[in-house]
Amino acid sequence: MSLTIYASLMCASCRHPTLHLFHERRLQKPPAGDPAFVDLIYVCEGCETERVWGSEPKPQPKRRRSAREELREHAVAVHGMRVADCAACLGVGLSCSSCDDRGSVWVFDSLDPCGPDCPLPVTGGGP
Ligand SMILES: [Zn+2]
Ligand SMILES: [Zn+2]
Ligand SMILES: [Zn+2]
Repeated sequence: MSLTIYASLMCASCRHPTLHLFHERRLQKPPAGDPAFVDLIYVCEGCETERVWGSEPKPQPKRRRSAREELREHAVAVHGMRVADCAACLGVGLSCSSCDDRGSVWVFDSLDPCGPDCPLPVTGGGP
């Protein structure tokens, strides 16, 4: 995101345009709820009076995708994971331990690890 470090702005104290230096971002205080924007605070170089000049959306904390989400995405993209009717109860989902009564199960094209970094839990393992 681009940021102007200084600008010539009207200063309320000096009563004429002065050089203002970027000072800080400050969360807006909305009447209710979370502030969604930050004000950009600039300070007059002459008298150090602060003023707001512009605002920008509050930076969202970078949402880290959970390992579970990544695993799921990987499984769908690489291993062809999809929902299918549970074979044990034929999709009815009543008192079925195979699908936990959901009637559907995840099926995969392949559960073999696609590489050394495959995050899928190794299943089977043979007898
Ligand atoms: Zn000033
Ligand atoms: Zn079932
Ligand atoms: Zn994989």
